[in-house]
Amino acid sequence: MRDDKWLFQILDEVWDKYFLDVPQDNDVRIVWGRKARTRLGSIKEESIVAEKGNKMHPATIITINSLFKDEAIPEYVVTATVAHELAHYAHGFSSPLEQKFDKPHAGGVIHQELARRGLGSLEKRQKKWLRENWREYIIKHFPPKRRRVVIRWI
Ligand SMILES: [Zn+2]
Repeated sequence: MRDDKWLFQILDEVWDKYFLDVPQDNDVRIVWGRKARTRLGSIKEESIVAEKGNKMHPATIITINSLFKDEAIPEYVVTATVAHELAHYAHGFSSPLEQKFDKPHAGGVIHQELARRGLGSLEKRQKKWLRENWREYIIKHFPPKRRRVVIRWI
């Protein structure tokens, strides 16, 4: 079952396997977000209240599209999405690390980062699967709401 724990394990594994040199200098959380057609994942920095005590502290929140809870989506698609967000973290976006670029997606920096870390083929498989399946998946499982047409007789 793709619950919160499953999602956290993906983050943990990706970090341990591919981002071990990237220090975790703050509280990093990963959560399921809303279902979305185009946004697969996102990363933000936010002050949160720890469960114990009531002090606010800065944390990084990685949010993953809830459509990925469906087992029909290959696990590597989710893993690649998490890796993409971790690359942002490594570049100092939504993280306490030094910011390395002007913009998070400047000139293919994510692709280069993933390739450098041995994640190039994973990213490629993710993109291929999305290209071949995502559109159809969305139409079937998360179609845009139909506009209600109101006809008035006057
Ligand atoms: Zn991104």
